Formats: sequence, structure tokens, C-alpha cells
Amino acid sequence: MKPTIQVHDKHFEVFIEKSVIENRINELAQRINLDYTAKRPLFLAILNGSFMFAAELMKSITVACEITFLRVSSYQATESSGKVHQILGLLENIKDRDVIVVEDIVDTGLTMVEIKQQLLAQQPASLSVVTLFQKPEALKQPIDIEYVGFEIENKFVLGYGLDYDGLGRNLGDLYVLC
Ligand code: 5GP
Repeated sequence: MKPTIQVHDKHFEVFIEKSVIENRINELAQRINLDYTAKRPLFLAILNGSFMFAAELMKSITVACEITFLRVSSYQATESSGKVHQILGLLENIKDRDVIVVEDIVDTGLTMVEIKQQLLAQQPASLSVVTLFQKPEALKQPIDIEYVGFEIENKFVLGYGLDYDGLGRNLGDLYVLC
């Protein structure tokens, strides 16, 4: 039986070990290095969840690049339109830049669809997304994601930057709800 940990009221077990995650991040970085040779990409990492992924990814990026960090606020617009996500903290001018959004996990995809729309309105030269995890079964809107670390089943996960009600972001392995 796998050892479990308790976070708040729930129990989690190891799902993907840190070494496996970090090997895969290195592979993603190598692909990005090839695709962005002779370019100077601007990475936009979405806080809080992507801080650990972004740090690990950047260690293996060898092309000249910049990184900045954003937040996405989420609020209920109306009953009919549901949640709206707004980008906060983007001070850089992204017009004509090669932008790469760094996200922890794409679940329904709704957040990323809106982030992409808002960034495209600022006319970057190119826009791509790198996400560490994606839950294909949970997707509610079709979305192009250029770099996906792991496709995972539709279960709640924790660790490697992802939290459960504030806790667990510091865990190096990825855990799944038992
Ligand atoms: P989406 O708009 O794609 O449904 O939601 C994306 C956001 O929901 C992620 O950036 C993340 O903050 C949160 N999220 C989605 N699935 C999970 C999960 O399994 N665990 C945790 N901790 N957060 C998740």
C-alpha cells in the first residue's frame, strides 16, 4: 500500500514522483529551446500554482529569454456568463514579443481560453502555452496547448506548486486524492 498524507480533511497518495516530473520538465525545455532558437521569448508564469514548475523549467532553458509573473483573478460576472478571469500584473509590453504562458494545470480550459484571448488582444508576435499537467477529460472548450508535461485523469491533484485550500504547494511529488 502506498503511504498517504493528510492535508486538511483529505488523504492523498503519491501520483507522480518529483524525479519523473523534473525529467519531463527538462524534455519540455529542450523542445522549447529548439522551437525558439534565435528568438527571445518572454515567459509569463501564472501565479501561484506555476512557481515551482516555472523555476524548474527556466533552469533548462538555454535561449535568451525573459520571465515575468502574473496573477489571474476570478470572479462571478453574472449567473449566465459564469466566472470571468482577468489578468493582473502584466507590466511588460508584449506587442511583437514571442510569448509563452507557463501554467500549472489546465482543467476545464476556461481560464486559459480567457488568458489567451486577453494576451492576443495585445498583438504578440506569437503566443504559446506550456502546462505541466492537463486533464483532457475535463476540457470544456477546445484549446491549443503547444507543450503538455503530463496528461492526467480527471482527479484532484496536489503538490509541485498546486494547493488544496492553501496547503501542499511545497510538496515535491504530485499527489492525488485517495
Ligand atoms: P480551469 O479554468 O482550466 O478549469 O482551471 C485551471 C486552474 O484550476 C488551475 O490553474 C488550478 O489553479 C486549478 N486546478 C484545476 N485542477 C486542479 C487540481 O486538480 N488541483 C489543484 N490544486 N488545482 C487545480
